[in-house]
Amino acid sequence: MARIVQKYGGTSVGDVDRIKNVAGRIKAMRDAGHELVVVVSARAGVTNELIARAKQVCPLPSDRELDQLLAIGEQETIALTAMALHGIGVEAVSYTGAQAGIFTDKAHTKAKIKTINPKPLLEDLKSGKVIIVAGFQGIDDEGQITTLGRGGSDLTAIALAAAIQADKCEIYTDVDGVYTADPRVVKEAQKLSEISYDEMLELASLGSKVMQTRSVEFAAKYNVVFEVRSSFNTNPGTIVKQEVAYMEKVVVRGVAVDKDQAKVVVSNVLDKPGTAARVFRVLAEANINVDMIVQNVGRGGVANLTFTVPLSEKDKAVKALGPALQEVGGEAAFDEKIAKLSVVGVGMKTHSGVAATLFEALAKTGANLELISTSEIKISVVIAKDKADAAARAVHAAFQLEKLG
Ligand code: ADP
Ligand code: ASP
Ligand code: MG
Repeated sequence: MARIVQKYGGTSVGDVDRIKNVAGRIKAMRDAGHELVVVVSARAGVTNELIARAKQVCPLPSDRELDQLLAIGEQETIALTAMALHGIGVEAVSYTGAQAGIFTDKAHTKAKIKTINPKPLLEDLKSGKVIIVAGFQGIDDEGQITTLGRGGSDLTAIALAAAIQADKCEIYTDVDGVYTADPRVVKEAQKLSEISYDEMLELASLGSKVMQTRSVEFAAKYNVVFEVRSSFNTNPGTIVKQEVAYMEKVVVRGVAVDKDQAKVVVSNVLDKPGTAARVFRVLAEANINVDMIVQNVGRGGVANLTFTVPLSEKDKAVKALGPALQEVGGEAAFDEKIAKLSVVGVGMKTHSGVAATLFEALAKTGANLELISTSEIKISVVIAKDKADAAARAVHAAFQLEKLG
């Protein structure tokens, strides 16, 4: 008998039949004698719909009210999943994030988990019930509902697995595992049987939305080994863990594309100490994640600052930058028609020529490089959004990732 945490994503619980499918899978595990804590997401599309509706009533909704609203998506699926289990004779009880003792800080819409008090949940678990927990939500120490950032049900599952010392953590989604590129875009993408936390973290943070970035960070910190697999079949998935015995000479592990970014060009700011500090301080105070910062110094004592922000935070960035630019001069322009494409692999640390191969492949697709940034294990470029899919396929082929499977 094992203690297992499972997480089912939005597509896996997308409608009544799929919820029944999930219930059937849970029953089979329960019948085999396992203890089960199951985290579910909102039905696919529900969180997006709720955000759209919020924007219809107020262009820049308050983060607190957004959290109040978004939490209902998961609250629907926990109750329906518990009911579906009752319908097939399985004892089950649903828990909201607060009821599951998931305490977070106060950063509405991107709260961090501070502690988990799993005591009540564990009592129910020990009495033989299947526990269904709402993903993506928690509660702060004043009793306010918070959410954990998009894709945050992954984090709920991994944090719960750590808190209750689960023997296994399984992330069920709509693809068979983690691939060398998004299998919906690159047909030749190969499923990886294993991947290290470091590479999974880079792929996730660079746009492979199969796992939420913060959930992978959490897993690495608490050494939670987890498996990404499909809720629609029984194929083995991808194990994500610390050490992976990789094939030699694998330089690039995968290609990631992030189409949810905007490029910001702040031009003609005063070229003097403190300008960049001012611009990025106001963005930090508005809780905006900035990436790929490049500065070019122009003539006449002015400079241009270019960087990327998540598309969902663009409106906040526009608002935050306004007053700062009055002080340091300059004007901001935003471009939403961009995508960030990245290649990731720990092998890059010891191999040369990765940038050249990447840029050649991109050149052949006619993609112009608007920004470039590198780290030890990744290279990212910003290109036009409408070229991103073809570019991903070309880059995947250039690094021969179809041979990795
Ligand atoms: P869930 O709702 O189950 O959390 P997500 O939509 O968040 O599922 O993530 C799964 C999706 O991630 C897949 O449908 C796939 O299109 C996309 N994806 C992007 N990059 C990758 C990758 N490298 N490997 C697997 N899936 C990927
Ligand atoms: N429902 C939330 C979202 O769409 C959380 C999740 O699905 O993991 O982001
Ligand atoms: Mg997800």
